[in-house]
Amino acid sequence: MKLALVGIGKIAVDQHVPAIAASPDWQLAATVSRAGTVDGVEAFTDMANMLAQRPDITTVSLAIPPVPRFAYAQAAIRAGRHVMLEKPPGATLAEVHALEALAAEHGVTLYTTWHSRMAHAVAPAKAWLAEKSITRARITWREDVRKWHPGQDWVFEPGGMGVFDPGINALSILTEILPAPVHLQAADLEFPANRQTPIAARLTFSGNVTADFDWRQTGPQTWDIEIDTTVGAMALRMGGNVLEIGDQPSRGENTIMGEYPALYARMADLICQSRSEVDLAPMVHVADAMTLGKRSITDPFYF
Ligand code: NAP
Repeated sequence: MKLALVGIGKIAVDQHVPAIAASPDWQLAATVSRAGTVDGVEAFTDMANMLAQRPDITTVSLAIPPVPRFAYAQAAIRAGRHVMLEKPPGATLAEVHALEALAAEHGVTLYTTWHSRMAHAVAPAKAWLAEKSITRARITWREDVRKWHPGQDWVFEPGGMGVFDPGINALSILTEILPAPVHLQAADLEFPANRQTPIAARLTFSGNVTADFDWRQTGPQTWDIEIDTTVGAMALRMGGNVLEIGDQPSRGENTIMGEYPALYARMADLICQSRSEVDLAPMVHVADAMTLGKRSITDPFYF
């Protein structure tokens, strides 16, 4: 199937382009980006032109930041194209609901991707937790914003979500593996004095679940979810790619490179089945944290 990739920036180059190139399902037939291109692929700088000039392209994958994404998704769906959304799927919950309704009206597939759910050890962790009673869960998601978002001021602008941009990956795993849903009870958010979104957040959920998100970590990065149950403990490390259970040898693979190929395979499946997949559970927790969170001001942040 022919696909157009929109927004040739960091994640497109790091993950989308190699995943599409390696896929038996997809051909990268065009890009839409004001500055970026991919060697050997027809490049458009304008979405409307691409949609008008390439009716053979049936699917559009949007790898731009969340705030501009709605208008691009709406245009693609109205033009009868299937649409794949990077995470977080939009700037607001309501706009994603609107896209879901629009996709149904136009008979096309909409897929709100959550790449961390495709990490190697997430499915085995979910299987192990099923039917168990969880007594405590602790998320530690601490990374270096300068490494993963070099110079990307949009993450600190309204709608950029700040540290929830990576934190939502942890929440996407949590909402996938827990046998029963939890809800946010309290949040502490730290905003740099010169920015609009938090650089750190500590969350407390029902069910004795906590999360510690911080974007100021240098050196080794930490993407851990540790869960205690009445019959033992498990830990997901490396962003859900490695599973440790008691004394057993660890499972999974210590690499994130399986996640995007799995997303593109899933998109192909959804189209074949004429289905959409829209899950906003991780984003509901972020919206709740922004609604309920206590705000404190910390040192200004400069890239
Ligand atoms: P990015 O490099 O800053 O942006 C991607 C591209 O989007 C840019 O190169 C730009 O291309 C286009 N763009 C930026 N602002 C735009 C606007 N206002 N209107 C239209 N196009 C715009 O960001 P990224 O890191 O790739 O992140 C993009 C999405 O992927 C985010 O939702 C992020 O959460 C997700 N993601 C990122 C990472 C990561 O490690 N960075 C990992 C997983 C997922 P042109 O200027 O050429 O148009």
